[in-house]
Amino acid sequence: MARRRQIFEGKAKVIFEGPEPGTIVQHFKDDASAFNAKKIGTITGKGVINNRISEHLMTKLGDIGIPTHFMRRLNMREQLVREVEIIPIEVVVRNIVAGSLAKRFGMPEGTPLPRSIIETYYKSSELDDPMINEEHITAFGWATPPELDEMMSLTLRINDFMSGLFLGVGIRLVDFKLEFGRLWEDDQMRIVLADEISPDNCRFWDTKTDEKMDKDRFRDDMGGVEEAYQEVARRLGILPESGPTDMKGPELMQ
Ligand code: UDP
Repeated sequence: MARRRQIFEGKAKVIFEGPEPGTIVQHFKDDASAFNAKKIGTITGKGVINNRISEHLMTKLGDIGIPTHFMRRLNMREQLVREVEIIPIEVVVRNIVAGSLAKRFGMPEGTPLPRSIIETYYKSSELDDPMINEEHITAFGWATPPELDEMMSLTLRINDFMSGLFLGVGIRLVDFKLEFGRLWEDDQMRIVLADEISPDNCRFWDTKTDEKMDKDRFRDDMGGVEEAYQEVARRLGILPESGPTDMKGPELMQ
């Protein structure tokens, strides 16, 4: 079998050319990085779990009418997605104070926010992803005002939907990061959700115990990283417990 052409290798994924024009394959690795790759490690099984979680969330978001790049999962570690032109902006949504927000403003982690805060960062590891606002985005031509409006309105819908979905399985969606892309169909362009949604780019806290169930366990050497990722998948009802036929529904919490 001919080897696929690798397009790009990132910190957590390898991107290959897809089988048809306009498609690409996302391969999820177990490699983990934090603090702009100053800390590097492995989370065994992470790639398999993130592939499943991202498939699940993108599919559910598609079901409520959010356009996404996701097409289908190919195997344990790979999914087929539409090739999009990635907009070089990281959109971060926050519902509860944590991480860099807590540091920047000296606020205690866990403070609920009276309304969700959306922040934007310029995707550049050389520059350490600097925070930017609408002025930078439009002045530097990273996105047009209508594109930005569309990204913001999709982000709010995604936040509402995901907050409810996770609350239903006993998980608080503290904050998360999204990326969007331009999907060209003939001469029409649509903004679609791209990249992945997983415990690598979300903060998840158990509603009862406030236990962290995300990459913060790796960032802060807390241990139990693999188990936390698995637990998120298990609660969503997508972790086979003894084999691929043993798929349970979501773990509804009272
Ligand atoms: N995040 C991400 N990629 C980044 C920066 C942040 O996925 O390059 C996610 C992170 O996992 C968290 C949210 O965005 O869920 C907010 O991150 P924060 O700004 O607090 O930065 P961090 O603490 O990750 O440095």
